[in-house]
Formats: sequence, C-alpha cells, structure tokens
Amino acid sequence: MRRSRAFIPTTKEASSDATLASHIYLSRAGFISQVASGLYNYMPLAKRVIKKIENIINEEMSKVGAQEVELSFVTPADLWAESGRIEKFGKELLRFKDRKENPFVLGPTHEEMMVDMVRNRVTSYKNLPLNLYQMKTKFRDEARPRFGLMRGREFIMKDGYSFHSSVEDLDREFDAMEAAYKRILNRLGLEFRVVEADSGAIGGSGSKELMVIADSGEDTIAICSKCEYGANIEAATRSFPVNIPEAPEAEFNKFLTPDVKSIDKLAEFLKIDPYYTVKCVAKRVVYDDDSEIVLFFLRGSDNLQEVKAINATEALEIVDVSEEELSELGIVPGFIGPLDQDKAKHVIDCNLKNAQNMVCGANELDYHFVGVDLKVLEDVAYFSDIAEVNEGDTCPNCDGILSFTKGIEVGHIFKLGTTYSEALKAEYLDENGKAQPFIMGTYGMGVSRLVASVIEQHHDEYGCVWTKATAPYMVNIMISNIKDEEQVNLGEELYEKLQNASVEVMLDDRKERFGFKMKDAELIGFPYTIIIGKELKNGLVQIYDRVSKEKISVSVDDIYEKIMELI
Ligand code: ATP
Ligand code: MG
Repeated sequence: MRRSRAFIPTTKEASSDATLASHIYLSRAGFISQVASGLYNYMPLAKRVIKKIENIINEEMSKVGAQEVELSFVTPADLWAESGRIEKFGKELLRFKDRKENPFVLGPTHEEMMVDMVRNRVTSYKNLPLNLYQMKTKFRDEARPRFGLMRGREFIMKDGYSFHSSVEDLDREFDAMEAAYKRILNRLGLEFRVVEADSGAIGGSGSKELMVIADSGEDTIAICSKCEYGANIEAATRSFPVNIPEAPEAEFNKFLTPDVKSIDKLAEFLKIDPYYTVKCVAKRVVYDDDSEIVLFFLRGSDNLQEVKAINATEALEIVDVSEEELSELGIVPGFIGPLDQDKAKHVIDCNLKNAQNMVCGANELDYHFVGVDLKVLEDVAYFSDIAEVNEGDTCPNCDGILSFTKGIEVGHIFKLGTTYSEALKAEYLDENGKAQPFIMGTYGMGVSRLVASVIEQHHDEYGCVWTKATAPYMVNIMISNIKDEEQVNLGEELYEKLQNASVEVMLDDRKERFGFKMKDAELIGFPYTIIIGKELKNGLVQIYDRVSKEKISVSVDDIYEKIMELI
C-alpha cells in the first residue's frame, strides 16, 4: 500500500475519555473511530489486524475439527424465552420488534441459536461430536462501555459450541479447545494465563478463562507461587491457613464494647487478631421477582466476594442496604451476630464452620459476645464459600502462596452440560434408540478485545508495537526525501520486490518531513521501517526495529535479504 493513498487518519490527540494505552493509540493511529458510546468503526488498519487474528483462530479451529458457520445476528426473542435467559440477561439484551410486531433481540451470544440450528438436524449419536463456531458481531448494551475496543457494546466474538453424547467426550473436547486457545494466544505473541473461572448461574462443571496479563486488566487473578494454579478472584479458593494466629482465651460472655462498630476497632479494643472476629456484611439480594436482606458472615480477616455471594444465594444481583433498612428489621448495625437467625437469612462462610474462641456481635447495641463456639450453628446454618481469597493465602492445590495479578479476559471456555439442550429440547438418539439431550460445551474468544489486548501488552510512549503475527503491515519503507530521485527509485524497487514476495509492505511516499513521517510510523507500530535517507549516497540504508528502537545500517545490495531474514 502507498501511504499517500492509504486511509490512515492519524491524530495528535485522542478523545478525553481515552485512558488506556490501547484506546489512545488505536484512536490516534487511525485504526478505529468512535461512533457512539461503545460503538466503533474499524478503519483499514484495524480491519487488517482483525483478519490476521481471525485467520489464526480459523487455522487452529480447523486443526481440532471445528467448522465455521455464521448465524443470523438478529435473533427471535422466542428462542431466548425458551431458554429462560430473556429475563436473566436483563438490560444488556437489546430488544426490538419488526414491522409485524414480532419480538427480536440482537445476539449477545448464540447458545440458543446454535442449539436451534442443530436440533432436529443432528439426530443420532453417530453424528456426534460436532463443533461449530463463528466470528460474529455481538451486541451487549453494557452498563459502562469503556476503554475503546476492550469493552464495547458492539464487538466481535469467536463463539463456538460443541455437542456430545457423553461427558467423557465433552471433557476431551474441552481439553482440546483449551490447548487450541493456548496455541492461538502463543501465536499472537501474548503473555497469558489460563485460570479457573466462575461458572455463574448457568452452572456447569468446568469453566476456564484465558487472561492476558496486563496491569490495565479489569480482572484480578490469584496465582500460586509454586504450581500452575490460577483463578479469577471471583472463583479462587484456598486451603485452610497453616499459620493460624494465637487464639484469644475467654469464657462465653457478653461484653460491653461501647461504639465499637468496625472489625478494626473491635480487634484493637479486645487486643485480638481480626481472624477471631465475625464480620457481618448485610446486603439486599435481588431474585427474579422479589428481594430480601441477607446477612453474610465471615471471619473479620476476610472480605465478601460478591460473585460467590450471588452464587450462594442464586441471586440475580446483590445491592447495598442502608442502616435504616436494617433497623426496620430490628437488626442493630455494627453489632450483628450469627446467633440470631430469625430476623434475616444467614449465609455463613465455610471458613467459620466450627470456629472457636470467636468474638461476634450480640445483636444488641454496644455489646459483643466473646468466647463463642460456632459449632452450635453446625446443623442449623447455611454455610458456603463466600470469602475472597487474600494475597498470602495458601494455594488450594499445594502449599504455595497465592498472589494477585491483573488480567484481561480474552477467552472463556465452559462445560455447559445439558442446560440449553434440555431447555430447548434438543435431543439425539443414543445407541439404544433412546432420546437424550446433547451434552454441550461453549468456547468464546473476544476478537476485537484481542486487538486492544495486544496493544495493552505491547506499546511504549511513542505508540503501538505490533507483534509480528498481528502487525497490519510488517515493513514500512520510508523515502526520507521524496524529491531525491535516487531514494524514490530504490523505494519503488524494494516496494515491488517485497510485494512480489508477499510481504505486507507500506511505502511512505508522502511529501512530508522525515521527522513527521517517522513519528507516524512509530505511532502505527510497523515492526520494521526501512529508512532510505542521506546515507544512500554511501550505498547504505537503515532498518529501524520498532521493538528495540535500534537502527542498523545495511548495504543497499543486502537490504532485501536482510529484511526477509528479519521477518
Ligand atoms: P466480561 O466479564 O469482560 O464482561 P463476559 O464474561 O461477559 O466478559 P463472555 O460472555 O464470557 O464475556 O464472552 C466471551 C468473550 O467475549 C469474553 O471472554 C471477552 O473476550 C469477549 N467480550 C465479552 N464482552 C465484551 C465486550 N463488551 N467488549 C469486547 N469483548 C467482549
Ligand atoms: Mg466470561
């Protein structure tokens, strides 16, 4: 491509809401343009990067026998009613009617559509397994679209779905897909981690996320210092602690603790470790059609993990409650204890099961109980893992220590089981001629989010630094002075030669200053720029490496071989 003809509208500034490097540079370097909140146009450079990512995904999918399809974006709302997700998906689902008043949604994911396409078409176990996928625009009316391509409302997802006649076969496919996804991210040149993920309301037995490691990531992941264990903080678990602080000794007793309402104050007041205090987090738990106040109890040294709390209560969402709302129920904020279960539903963290020597609220203003033995709750209370792991906790799989890092969720693979096939009555006949629901897996990868992820991991203060697999053009030929005939001739000659060798090459033939063109090249992030400049008189040109920012001089005779060798 000739730069003089290319549509690459680079700019000095990005919009004021752009805070992430990928958002800033993809906008400034003329890859994307914003249409409205969470909506972007892909300009030619972005389109090239997307195609590259899609090609790599296609290659890896065909290696594992997955077949590409494309489903209609506009989806009948009836299918979503059939699966029961029309309510659950809430406001993220964009709903509308056609001219005949038929209800539709814009597909935010395509489980229902894929099951609908396969049901009654695949009818025998002999035709299983089957793995179908697509690269498709998705629409989710995200509450807070932000960070450019990272969290758009419209975005491209590779979504795949597999159909099986046994759990073992699903397990095999799941492992094969995990391996394929790892190969894809390795080929893209990304540093990543596969982590255990929350299985959410859909249930299912296995769920893993592929996280690109980046400080700007929205997800916190816990990783082990010794073994391969990694998990999204929403799903991370831990072993019971090894180094338990020394227990305070006290007979069961009610203790005056005037105005001691927080865990910190309580621990200080009684000179005990917060580990031996019981924390209560009161929340309003929202269900399909009603809501209630639930009291979540944890050790004072732990915090409530909201996704775990949602799962434990099978809630749609959990929201804050005011002290007034609690008081109306006769609950005394600051002094809530688990020993009074009549006022509100209790969920108690499993780490408190049979805990002894505890201090907890006495359900009475200014009083706490000390010397509490929670064994009394063993048979009456509902226990669940609702605590967030802490840095320094022990790995659930070995004696390593957990620490936190930030990640960008670029992929999510999930063992669905029969949730959708049962809801949509999608069945096949097994070896005995008996109808069975398909056992399913689902495999998502955020294609447009990957574009942004590459830049989050690969950029510097000058702009984008594309990996070789993702660069929109591999080589940029810079004619420093367009009025110098010798420079132009060499530029044109190299341009033609590289094109003939199928190298993706840009020829910067613009009548602009060298410094301006160089800044532009750095902003866009071509891996290599061949600078044809003053040194040409001495038979030399330079190769500028975008990663190392080093320039090496190469003789004109060797430049073609050298660049071919580098790429
Ligand atoms: P998130 O937790 O980031 O909202 P999700 O868990 O809702 O994502 P999935 O339903 O698992 O997303 O979708 C599969 C993949 O699609 C995600 O792993 C992510 O890479 C991508 N994706 C999801 N939402 C968006 C979005 N709003 N913008 C861009 N990519 C997205
Ligand atoms: Mg996900």
